[in-house]
Amino acid sequence: MKNIILFGPPGSGKGTQAKTLEQQHGLIQISTGDLFRYELGNQTELGVLAQSYMSKGKLVPDEVTIKMLERKYNEHTAAVGVILDGFPRTVAQAVALDKMMETRGEEIAMLISMEVDEEELVQRLLLRGIDSGRADDANEGVIRKRLQVYQDETHPVLDYYAEQGKVIRINGMGSVDKVFAKLVETVGV
Ligand code: AMP
Repeated sequence: MKNIILFGPPGSGKGTQAKTLEQQHGLIQISTGDLFRYELGNQTELGVLAQSYMSKGKLVPDEVTIKMLERKYNEHTAAVGVILDGFPRTVAQAVALDKMMETRGEEIAMLISMEVDEEELVQRLLLRGIDSGRADDANEGVIRKRLQVYQDETHPVLDYYAEQGKVIRINGMGSVDKVFAKLVETVGV
């Protein structure tokens, strides 16, 4: 099974691309952000807890995020592959993920880092806020906070996987179709 981390700051296009990889190539997208939004939609305890962090642009605590990810991953053990979208977002999550893979005889095949300029990210997120109604995209302050959290807490995950020789960087500034073509080539599906 191919386990791929689709990595990049908020607005880099991870979700859009992961969805198309799922639709066209049968890889399963696991998005922790989508999972939290689903929980919130159902007003579960986890959803309400997550919302208190999401609305401020902060990360949901590792422990609950890792547990939720593991539960979801276990539903897809027969898949051709999974695209992890928005996870891991801290080095602690990456360490937990590697352990989780090891106990299952699996491993992370690669981390694909989608690289987009910061101002482009802000513009994309503001636009998405208008289109999707996502509260955390509608407020520039929350957007900038998320980008800061990405730099401080998430970016070190890149170094963690670089040490394992698993990082592939791709330019995320082109059109959705161009980036998708590059991804398909990189993933090898
Ligand atoms: P996303 O849809 O990936 O942009 O995630 C939206 C929000 O959900 C983030 O700003 C975080 O508050 C929360 N979130 C999503 N994934 C994670 C994660 N792996 N760790 C902690 N918080 C997360």
